[in-house]
Amino acid sequence: MSTTDTAYYSVIGILFTISHEKSFYYLACQKCKRKIAEEGGQFKCSHCGNTSEHCNVVYMFKMRLDDGTGCIWINVLGDLGNEIVGKTAEDLKKMKDSGDESYAKFFDDQKHKVQILPKLS
Ligand SMILES: [Zn+2]
Repeated sequence: MSTTDTAYYSVIGILFTISHEKSFYYLACQKCKRKIAEEGGQFKCSHCGNTSEHCNVVYMFKMRLDDGTGCIWINVLGDLGNEIVGKTAEDLKKMKDSGDESYAKFFDDQKHKVQILPKLS
């Protein structure tokens, strides 16, 4: 296989850590799905020019998985995050923003879950 080929792997492992200290999500433009910033209560996309009062909350975090042969850090993006934590990024952000006590425990509760990740490239 050359270095330009894409290969997919399934990984089964034990989840050790989800890195979320800085953030576990980004705000995305509803039109082009790229990263967006809030300016004065509005979201202005510098990529497509869309301006809206709303945006999408999209998972973006790293997690450490042990498959029995070693540990690897995996970047998790978008809907894969929903499958892993069982909640949408928007719901989890709301939990965090409201100061919900269960948020602090939430990531700890994710530890030691068995994860099956199909189609890692
Ligand atoms: Zn956009």
